Parts: sequence; structure tokens; C-alpha cells
Amino acid sequence: MLTARILFPLPLPEPFDYAIPDGLTVEPGSYVRAPLGKYARTGVVWEVLESDPERILKEIEAVFPTPPMPAAMRKFISFCARYTVSGPGQVLSMALRSRGGLSPSPTQTVYALTGHRTNRMTAAREKVLAAAEQLGPASAADLAREAGVSASVIKGLAETGSLAANALPTDLPYPSPDPSRTGPDLTVEQASAGQALRNAVKQGGYQPFLLDGITGSGKTEVYFEAISETLAADPTAQVLVLLPEIALTQAVFDRFESRFGAGPAPWHSSLSDQQRRRTWRETAHGRARIVTGARSALFLPFANLKLIIVDEEHDTSFKQEDGVRYHARDMAVMRAKLEAASVILASATPALETVVNAEAGRYQRLKLSARPGAAKLPDMQLVDLRTNTPEKGNWLSPVLSKALVQTHAEGEQSLLFLNRRGYAPLVICKACGERLKSPGTESWLTEHRYTNRLVCHLTGWSMPKPDNCPMCGAKDSLMGVGPGVERVAEEVRVLLPEANVEVFSSDTAMGGEATRGIVERMAEGEIDVLVGTQIVAKGHNFPNLTLVGVVDADSGLQGGDLRAGERTYQLLSQVAGRAGRAERPGRALIQTYQPDNPAMQALAAGDRDGFLKIERDVREELTLPPFGRMAALVMSAPDPAMAKEIGLIAGKTAPHGDGVTVYGPAPAPISILRGRHRLRFLITAPREVDLSAYMAAWMKDLKLPNAARAAVDIDPYSFL
Ligand code: ADP
Repeated sequence: MLTARILFPLPLPEPFDYAIPDGLTVEPGSYVRAPLGKYARTGVVWEVLESDPERILKEIEAVFPTPPMPAAMRKFISFCARYTVSGPGQVLSMALRSRGGLSPSPTQTVYALTGHRTNRMTAAREKVLAAAEQLGPASAADLAREAGVSASVIKGLAETGSLAANALPTDLPYPSPDPSRTGPDLTVEQASAGQALRNAVKQGGYQPFLLDGITGSGKTEVYFEAISETLAADPTAQVLVLLPEIALTQAVFDRFESRFGAGPAPWHSSLSDQQRRRTWRETAHGRARIVTGARSALFLPFANLKLIIVDEEHDTSFKQEDGVRYHARDMAVMRAKLEAASVILASATPALETVVNAEAGRYQRLKLSARPGAAKLPDMQLVDLRTNTPEKGNWLSPVLSKALVQTHAEGEQSLLFLNRRGYAPLVICKACGERLKSPGTESWLTEHRYTNRLVCHLTGWSMPKPDNCPMCGAKDSLMGVGPGVERVAEEVRVLLPEANVEVFSSDTAMGGEATRGIVERMAEGEIDVLVGTQIVAKGHNFPNLTLVGVVDADSGLQGGDLRAGERTYQLLSQVAGRAGRAERPGRALIQTYQPDNPAMQALAAGDRDGFLKIERDVREELTLPPFGRMAALVMSAPDPAMAKEIGLIAGKTAPHGDGVTVYGPAPAPISILRGRHRLRFLITAPREVDLSAYMAAWMKDLKLPNAARAAVDIDPYSFL
């Protein structure tokens, strides 16, 4: 007799043992249903072992008709749990995001012509047969609509044998991509990078790459070469392309489709349940050959994953900031290692971590230094706001205003970038000086003019803008301070009354449809000036865009974040890279009060490597990541007294670790969030220390009151 050790997608410390009843075929990786407490639950068999005759175990109830989760995926889940100091069941739950995917597709009944004609024909029946001829196999509803008759006519024809009813799956397989199709003629540089990737894929095994190419150099075309080789080399091989969520647009989908003759299987947060279960099922069965997805796609149970691409690998949206706090880029490299697959990290501004790995020889670096054809990198110019000051109440300097007018006069498009949604980031009362905050949260409210509401960007809480100050009651005393994209758009409309000015932010582009609308209008030249938040920075190609203006380059430099300079550099060079992508040269004007800051200097000089070198030296000197390890412990409690108490308890419980330094507890920068009082510990250690093991030991001993919460964040990216 055999026993199955089953892991459930629940926050339980370990798998549980079950008996395998006669007649069920169960192997490691099988998806099964088994009783747990009062219910039957879905889980995955982690191990199969000899039964102990002394133990009486509950039996597995059923096995799902899904290929078992491959060993590499199970190892990956265990690794990820250990690394992030999470329960393996919590990580498994990310791999089981679609229960519907475990069962075969639901079916719908379709009707098709049989060739048999009944001799009891009517006019209505004739219409249905004509409709069936035209539509092919179709549902009763579709046939009835097409023929303009009631559904009972279709049932009648089925009874006479003129139509045959068949059950057809509603979730169809994805069409197969065709690797024999070719892309544009590659430049010499692209071809040589493409060949290196093809060779690696052909050779097989774990092969990590950094594809380091300036914006618009054709990185996508180059990694398409690797995809093409992967698909051609092995008829069951699968490819995963990870992209930042907001880059998963129709344009990207279309690009895959035009290169491979079939679109990829999508995976992101706005999929319907049906799309989700379809992608999950097709991936698990190995039929979806290319999957494009946001970070959570990394946890799909591929049957034969042979290539992972992380595009825009520096993007901070790859870090998950709640639940299991993982970095999809780092975990993608680990998954590739376990799957013996190739992995390509692509970026114009790779993260320092990645650059250091490439320099240490852990990744092979492929460089693309030019844009194909006539397209040139934009000319970058710093605008010193201390000497080129905007007029009072305005945010655009005279230099930038003039450039906007000139660009518009020449029939070209401009893009203004400001990473602040809404109209004004702060609302104060002119009478009493009150700064309006979100209830139970230490966060200022942002004024939104389009909706005339005050919104908390941290929690999403909002209220209509009141006429009177909620504190002192003064009438019409509330005033928005500082610029948001709506306010900058207002300024441009005054400057260029004829121009078509639009705002592009997560408020104006809610959902894929609206985003696509703006992107298409911009690409087709219907918008003259687009004012946007970081949503505009990602991957869009606007051929007639020649001017990019950065309204406030300094906003990202504030705060005690170790990556502030790096992030500013990355974001601004991505934004500036939107200009001049076709034949026309582009320019970028960057407004700053700190023109001497190394990030600004490097931007202006286009000296990315020089900037990275300064960053690198500082981090090495201070043994900050990637030269040292870092973790955070974020705690919260419903009241200040308990917050203080749990900070003391955690401080006392912290184990001794060689080389490990524990800083804190300190109040978190966002000290109150949704009524909870927050505090943080920061933990640092030399590279060779296993900080995950240290944190796990700490958490094991930590006993907190029920209302308290504690979360471990290994390699933290957010310090709020
Ligand atoms: P990146 O991903 O590096 O920003 P893309 O792959 O998006 O660059 O390429 C930028 C633009 O240049 C795209 O429109 C792409 O189709 C085009 N392109 C890239 N390589 C070539 C080439 N060899 N010939 C013609 N067009 C190319």
C-alpha cells in the first residue's frame, strides 16, 4: 500500500498524509481532491511513500484529469516558500489560481447539417438550414438569431435528423504559433545576439542572459529569435514571457501574432474566469506554447518550460508587495535553473543587481547599442528650474513651453511626464492650515478635478470635494497645492488652445479598452500633447512623437529609498526613450532643481554605465544589495500600545546571527494605514549569510497577540 503526502493551497505548515485507494492512479504531482476538516479540498501530491500499516489514514477521493505538476515546478514552489519565508501551501495557492482549469472545458451544444432533408419542410425550417449552411456548427441561439426563428425550430430539425447536435468545448485550445515565420531583416548586432540565443536554446540546459539594449534597439525582435528556436527545436517546448502588467497591451499581443501567426495565451489580473481557466488548462497540458503574462504567470504549471523572458526586467512591478513577497525576476532565474531552461532578462536600463550578476559572469550579456534604421536616441537636455523658473502657479518652464509650441507648430506630438495622478497632490485649508488626510491613514488626499473628488492613492478611499473645510468649516477655503497631471494638462490647454490635449493615467485609462483607445489615438496622431504618469513610460511606439518633457524629475529622488537614484534614472530614460522612434529626431527636456545630481548628469550625458558605476561603488562601500543581503519585518497592530508591545517582543525574540544586524523597530514611514499602526525592522547581513533561514528561525519563535500582524520581506524594494 502507498501513502500520498498532499500539499494543500492553504496556510498550513506542511503536507498531510492520505491513503491511495485501489483503482486510483496517483503519482507525485497529481492534482487530487481529499477530505480536510469538514470539506473536500484540492491539493497536489508532493510525495508518494510506502504506507505504515499501523496508521489509519483518510483516503483520496478523486484525481483530476490534468497532467501531474512536474517535479521542477514542485521544487520551485518549495524553493520559493523557503526563500520568501512563506508556507509552501501559500506559494502553491499562487499556482492554483484557476480551479476550473483542473477539469475539462465545459461544453456547449452546437448544431450542424447532416445532409438529410426531412420531407416535412416549412419556411422557418428552410431558413434554419440556410443559416446552418452559412454559419457552420453553431449554438441553437446563434442559429435562431441568424434565421430569425424561435429556438424550437432548431430542436425540431434535430429530431427529424436534418441537424446533428454535438457537444463542443467552450474553451478552445490556443492556435499554434508557427516558428518557421520570419521577422524583419536583423541588423548585424541584432543578428549576432539572436544567434547567441538560438545556440543556447539548441544546446539546452540552464542558460541565463542579460539582453542589454537601448530603448528601440529591437530587443523584442531579438528575443523572438530565441522563441522561434525553442518552438522549432522541441514540438512540446513552452515559452513564458513576463512583462509588467501595464505593458500587456493589445499592441504587444498583435506583435506576437504578426511574428508567429498566432497570439500568445494571456495571463494577467483582468482576465475573466473563463480566460483564466483556459490559459491555466492549456499551459498545464502543454498545449499553450507561448504565454505572455504579468509576474503571477511565473506560477503557472507549465508541462515543459524551456524558455523564460523577463522583459523590462528592472521594473519594480515584478516585486509582489503583499502575501508571498517575491521578486518575479529573481524567481524566474531560479525557475529556469530548476527547469534546465534558458532565461533572458531584457532591459534598456537593467537593475544594478542584474548588471553585477552579468559582470560576475553569472549571466551572459548581449548588447544592442543602436536603433535600427534612421531612428536615433533623443537629445537629452536638463532644464535648471532655479534659473528657468516657471511663472507663478505654473509648472512648465519657459524653455519647455516654447518647445511645446514649436513642436505643435511643426505638426509633431509631445509627451509630458509627471508621476502624479489627479489635479493636486495635497489639499490645504487657507483658513486653518489643515492638510486633508485619508481617515485612519497617514496619507494626504489628492484633488481630482475630472471627478471633483478627493482621493487617497494609498487605500483608494475617496469623497466628493466638500465646499467647506471639514476641520474649521470655512467656506471655499480648500486649495489644491502642487501639480498633478490634470493641472499640467490645464496649463497646456491655455498655452495651446487649439491642440488636442489628453491625460493618460490609471484614472483616465481604467481597464484595457480605455488604455488601448488612448494609445491608438496617440499612435495615429489624433492627440497633440499627452500628459501622463508612469503608465506612458512603457514600451509604446509613437512614431510622430518628437518632444518629451519631464515636468518634475526630482520627485522620485526624495525619501530614504536605497534605489531612488537608480529608479529615477530608469524611469526618466524610459520616458525620454519614447521620443524620436521613427525617422524624426527626438528631444527630451528634463526639468530639475538638482542638475548636479549624478542621476541627472548621467541622463543628460546618456552615460548609463557611468551612472551604474557610481551606484555600484556606493552600494559596495555600504554593503547594500547586491553586495549585502537585506530583509524587512513589517508589523502592525490596531492601537499604538500594542504596536509598541509587539515591537519590544519582536526585538527581544530576534535570534543572534553571525554578521546579522537588526535595526529597529522604527515607526514605518506610513505609520498608520487603514487604522493600523505600523512599524518596521530592517535586517542586513553579508552576502554569504542565509538571511531567509535567519528570518524563518525568528518567526518560529515569535509569539504575538492575535490582532497583531507580521510579514517578512526578503530583498525589500518598498520601505514604506
Ligand atoms: P526594444 O524592445 O528594444 O525597445 P523593439 O523590439 O520594440 O525595441 O523595436 C523598436 C521598433 O523597431 C519596433 O517597431 C520594431 O518593429 C522595429 N525594429 C526592430 N528591429 C528592426 C529591424 N531589424 N528592422 C526593421 N525594424 C526593426
